[in-house]
Amino acid sequence: MDIILFNTLGRQKQVFTPITPGKAGLYTCGPTVYDYQHIGNFRTFLFEDLLKRVLFYNGYDVTHIMNITDVGHLVSDADEGEDKMEKGSARTGKTVWEIAEYYTQFFLDDAKALNLIPPTRYTKATEYIQEQIDMIKCLDDKGYTYVTSDGVYFDTSKLSDYGKLANLDIEGLEEGSRIQFSTEKKNKTDFALWKFSPKEGKRQMEWDSPWGKGFPGWHIECSAMSRKYLGDTFDIHCGGIDHVPIHHTNEIAQSETCTGKPFAHYWMHGAFLEEESGKMSKSKGEFLRVETLIKHGYTPLDYRYLCLGTHYRKRLLFSWEILEQAKTAMTRLKQNIQQIRDDAKKNFDERDASMPEGERDKFLEAVNDDLNMPQALAVLWGVVRNDKLTSIEKKNLINDFNRVLGLDLDKDIEAGNTNVPAEIMELVEKRIAAKKAKDFKKADVLRDELKSLGWEVVDKKDGVEVKQITN
Ligand SMILES: [Zn+2]
Repeated sequence: MDIILFNTLGRQKQVFTPITPGKAGLYTCGPTVYDYQHIGNFRTFLFEDLLKRVLFYNGYDVTHIMNITDVGHLVSDADEGEDKMEKGSARTGKTVWEIAEYYTQFFLDDAKALNLIPPTRYTKATEYIQEQIDMIKCLDDKGYTYVTSDGVYFDTSKLSDYGKLANLDIEGLEEGSRIQFSTEKKNKTDFALWKFSPKEGKRQMEWDSPWGKGFPGWHIECSAMSRKYLGDTFDIHCGGIDHVPIHHTNEIAQSETCTGKPFAHYWMHGAFLEEESGKMSKSKGEFLRVETLIKHGYTPLDYRYLCLGTHYRKRLLFSWEILEQAKTAMTRLKQNIQQIRDDAKKNFDERDASMPEGERDKFLEAVNDDLNMPQALAVLWGVVRNDKLTSIEKKNLINDFNRVLGLDLDKDIEAGNTNVPAEIMELVEKRIAAKKAKDFKKADVLRDELKSLGWEVVDKKDGVEVKQITN
């Protein structure tokens, strides 16, 4: 069955045709590690995880590269403002290298908790400085650069198709009214390829280059590192919708100018997670992290379930109420599935691989239609509630669907907990979350509360067992 994807380049759904049959090269723009990632960032990474899982599900061999931006970049897309890492360094008293390491680890832990399959390779920008310099040299040799007092810039007026991804209205851009940009820039849309270190004061991260000591601009790392591992042209490039007008537009300008070939065939972008006040962002100070959700008694997979319920190209308005709904649905789902798994164990041969094709086709059709996860969840619930299927058939289908959904539906997490009322399970999960957040006092209070309601929780290696107190 064909995979249909919505291509930002051209703004339409297209059949996915890989460069090499059976293989897919995928590049996704990764985190900037000068701070924590909020759950809005993870909505994008989650959409990319689903894309990759759908490719796997269809039998593709996927090479996935994700960058980690650990170079101290500037706060705004306009190549002006404070350096993010140096700013973090001043705030925390750590070196920029320590900061990058610290937040990278947090990102990796959160990604794991959300069941994101790791890429084939994470590429840290600081480990590919030479590749970035080589690509700037290539642009320099072709005459697309110029030097100002603060850096080396790409002259976008030399490209006739600059801005094709975003359908940019170059004349209408109002960058200048919002942010003061270098007066030496020839065009509003020109961007830095290399920035010079300030004359006074040493930067913690700086490198020698043919143009002088400094550091690479943000966009060049993705062009250089994708080329190294995926080649001049590859299949799919992804990111958040905010990457379209500047970051991805500039990646295309650099890569296609240097190689003379198309950069990526399919461009896919995830819509924002929003709050009542607008787009979730780091600049607002306090923001929601995976850990915040856990502290409120939710699991990372409750959040994953929430995200699956809205198509990746639609904005998702976050509230605690909809997360609560997702949690309730997830709890019910897990209980139903546990019942199915227990029945299957009792009544059927575990080696029975029977899988009703009709149900599987419905699921495949949903996920292959530009990752229609809300529809895929509907197919899953349909299987769970279907009286005509045997438990083993249901179990096999659910295990199979879980390869895409990534909700741990193929695991017995709470052995023997199927007959526990939902309100008791809720307290149990709050206690698990409290323990994860190392709030042992709260965990003990919840254990006592459960006891007073007649339920005992026994901690096990792979989860907990919940038992009714019978005396
Ligand atoms: Zn990028």
